[in-house]
Amino acid sequence: MGEKTKHVDFLIVGGGIAGTTLALELQKLGASVTIYDNQFNRSSSRVAAGLISAMVPRNVRKTWLSDQIFPHVFNYYKSFEDQWNAHFIDEIPTLQIHKNLRQVHNWTIRAGEPGFEKYLNINAPQLPECMKPLNFDCIEVLLTGRLDVTKFIDLAKVHIPQKENSFYFEGQFYYNELIGDSGDWIYEEIKYSKVVFADGVNIHLNPFFNYLPFNPSGGDILKVKIEGIPQSHILKKKEWLLPIGNNEWLAGSTYHSDNYSTQEKESDSDWLIQELESWLGKPIQLIEHKRGVRPTVAERRPYLGEHPIQQNLFVYNGLGSKGSSLVSVLSEQFAQHLINQAPLNSEVNIEQYHPLFFAKN
Ligand SMILES: Cc1cc2nc3c(=O)[nH]c(=O)nc-3n(C[C@H](O)[C@H](O)[C@H](O)COP(=O)(O)OP(=O)(O)OC[C@H]3O[C@@H](n4cnc5c(N)ncnc54)[C@H](O)[C@@H]3O)c2cc1C
Repeated sequence: MGEKTKHVDFLIVGGGIAGTTLALELQKLGASVTIYDNQFNRSSSRVAAGLISAMVPRNVRKTWLSDQIFPHVFNYYKSFEDQWNAHFIDEIPTLQIHKNLRQVHNWTIRAGEPGFEKYLNINAPQLPECMKPLNFDCIEVLLTGRLDVTKFIDLAKVHIPQKENSFYFEGQFYYNELIGDSGDWIYEEIKYSKVVFADGVNIHLNPFFNYLPFNPSGGDILKVKIEGIPQSHILKKKEWLLPIGNNEWLAGSTYHSDNYSTQEKESDSDWLIQELESWLGKPIQLIEHKRGVRPTVAERRPYLGEHPIQQNLFVYNGLGSKGSSLVSVLSEQFAQHLINQAPLNSEVNIEQYHPLFFAKN
């Protein structure tokens, strides 16, 4: 490398929600960044519905870090809306529809517990007329909404390179072309102080971090049309409908375990529509079907931290099915760690997985 080799502080591999928000947080702290992203149109972030919610219906609990995330998450994205003069975040409450009396009981009890008052309202508005003959009960879940993830990351792609000495390259990153250089890293003639892999489910192809255990989970999201239902709430039983305007809704989702396929199957969209129609009491017309894979971890905690041996190589992954909300706190914390050596939350720090690396190597 000649003396005029360009130097950028951070190389980030992957421009999904993880890589994008980390780049923005690093820039806030004055760092320069380069992102490489191959623009795969079935990446997890580009398929995701962007649903944001603090409640886990399966066991009527709050999600991990919920009290840090909510309501902060909405202001987090709104601050980018203001800077970029754009719109991609909506706070939309949810009507959580009960399946049986046990659920009515569990949700009602929870709503009375301290710490849940900001999330749950037992005096829920009426369900849509078409559901009345089916006789369901529901609760209103607050502080829920939707991030239009594709719009957000596409806008960030335009804004990130506007900062001094920062770049966004649309294209494939080749792991074997990354060269170590006395603590720095060189890729395509640019020298970097630190490299962060935010490569989503592609981590299984990443020679540095593929020892981290993943349980990838395929999923389907539909865009559908339904006439004559008020679009004031997300409607959720097990499957859900998320209003996006003009009588259009996003519908989800399915879970296919340990499967990297992004090939849509008619049987999956048929199944989802059938399930939804069974409680909605209205016909649903399919507009679009997308299939992606969630970067899910069995322990349900993301992976952040430095490689056990290779200095200045980091990972940011494992956001599972909660990327849109988790990044609103994790990206800032990770940027503080990378620049100011702030400690990482022990639950996400990959140090705990180092024995797996040494066993494999
Ligand atoms: C069906 C489905 C529904 C979902 N619904 C929701 C939801 O409602 N709410 C929610 O919060 N989350 C949801 N998720 C999960 C959410 O999408 C993920 O948590 C999040 O998108 C993960 O972001 P990421 O940046 O880690 O990974 P990704 O989005 O996969 O980003 C990684 C990026 O890196 C690129 N890349 C990888 N390797 C390379 C390489 N070698 N060179 C160049 N580029 C590379 C990929 O193409 C991709 O663009 C859903 C996911 C799916 C699949």
